[in-house]
Amino acid sequence: MSKLIFEKSKPGRICANVPQAENEPSKPILDLIPENYIRREKLNLPEVSELELIRHFSELASKNFSIDKGFYPLGSCTMKYNPKINELVSRFERLSNLHPLQPEDQVQGALEIMFILSEYLKEISGFKAITLQPAAGAHGELTGLLMIKKYFEKKGDKKRTKVLVPDTAHGTNPATASMCNFTVVELKSNNKGQVDLDSLKSNLDETTAAIMLTNPNTLGIFEEDILTITKLVHQAGALQYYDGANLNAIMGIARPGDMGFDVCHLNLHKTFSTPHGGGGPGAGVVCCNEKLEPCLPIPILSKSKDGVFYWDYDRKDSIGKVKGYYGNFGMFVRALAYIWANGKEGLNQVSKDAVLNANYMKENLKKDYDLPYDIDCMHEFVLSGKRQKKHGVSTLAIAKRLLDFGVHSPTVYFPLVVQEAIMIEPTETESKEELDRFIEIMKQVAAEAISNPELVNGAPYNTPVGRVDEAHAARSLNLCWASSCK
Ligand SMILES: *Cc1c(COP(=O)(O)O)cnc(C)c1O
Repeated sequence: MSKLIFEKSKPGRICANVPQAENEPSKPILDLIPENYIRREKLNLPEVSELELIRHFSELASKNFSIDKGFYPLGSCTMKYNPKINELVSRFERLSNLHPLQPEDQVQGALEIMFILSEYLKEISGFKAITLQPAAGAHGELTGLLMIKKYFEKKGDKKRTKVLVPDTAHGTNPATASMCNFTVVELKSNNKGQVDLDSLKSNLDETTAAIMLTNPNTLGIFEEDILTITKLVHQAGALQYYDGANLNAIMGIARPGDMGFDVCHLNLHKTFSTPHGGGGPGAGVVCCNEKLEPCLPIPILSKSKDGVFYWDYDRKDSIGKVKGYYGNFGMFVRALAYIWANGKEGLNQVSKDAVLNANYMKENLKKDYDLPYDIDCMHEFVLSGKRQKKHGVSTLAIAKRLLDFGVHSPTVYFPLVVQEAIMIEPTETESKEELDRFIEIMKQVAAEAISNPELVNGAPYNTPVGRVDEAHAARSLNLCWASSCK
């Protein structure tokens, strides 16, 4: 972006005139502000007119890619469309103007929203208890593992220090386990892309605290041996954590609670349509069975015999709080609106369509790209760009070339068990025409990689910025508009 179009500030130019107050404040404002909070130097803000301001932000917004603008098959992220009515409802003033410190008797309606949502989520996941507090999937994992840790502490079982994580798990799983001070042991997958039972058996012993299972795993494959896995793990005295961030694949079809899991997180900001990207806000709610219920974070939302909702802080085995207040309330409103709008059959249809769309796309692309695990997938599937790589075109280049067609790139180089991985999640909200269009684009790029590798390697050509050094951008992030404040 050139300086000329970006730096619009002109001294003295303003958006609005604020009229002079008629009455002097009884106590001068400056006297009310603690000495060390008073700004001594002029704040160097851009000085622009209202029109320039609006144009500037509209221009920036139009450069940004979003699901409202185009297809967004970012595997494992479920970038599906968020119905606008959910946004509308969450912005109702009587909901959006509440403060979490208001007394319970003033916010019974809000508590009821959270209570009803909790009941639905327990039913959908097959668990007895829930907390809505965690703000993200990874945060839910942290909460669940801290509960497992507490459970063994309470039992006086100090030996259980290791957590088993399959090589097809989401990257946050091993990260969470190691943050909780567990030793992470990787389980190998078999040639069907599923947990190898021998690898599991040889790693299960009296030092195993838990297994963390992403299901469907990051290959988009449902663990067929899941009941055997849960049986073996319980026999060894360990607990089972279900990463249910991708519940989009199984709603109304199968429930983690019924599979024998002890605890599970769900990403409301994936499955239940609440928007995400850009780091939040989200909701990684945690559901559990009676074994772990006493360890849930405080407070627990409860309902008295007279139907009054209240926060229960009196729980001696709780891990404590994991977030300020009670979680991201706006997310709960959106999720409940989504559940109500779809109903039981609707949610079931969501999952069936998500799985159908992924399989349709997989079948249509498996001639043009390598498909390392050629079996039925769930909500997503993983191709490999190995064939294109032989022609000197990396998967990164394929991902960049896709941008020129106005679509978002799939997730690439993950999961690690697939070389040159391309992880595609079409979601249920796309039409057949849109799926076909993306299939055509993928085929064209596969053909270009062979006939004209330079073209693909030079991509993207149509985006506001070309290739960025992502590692450098993440480590030395500079969000300042002015060149002077590097
Ligand atoms: C997205 C995701 C997570 C992490 O969720 P965040 O909200 O990004 O922290 C964990 N597991 C799986 C399988 C996911 O897809």
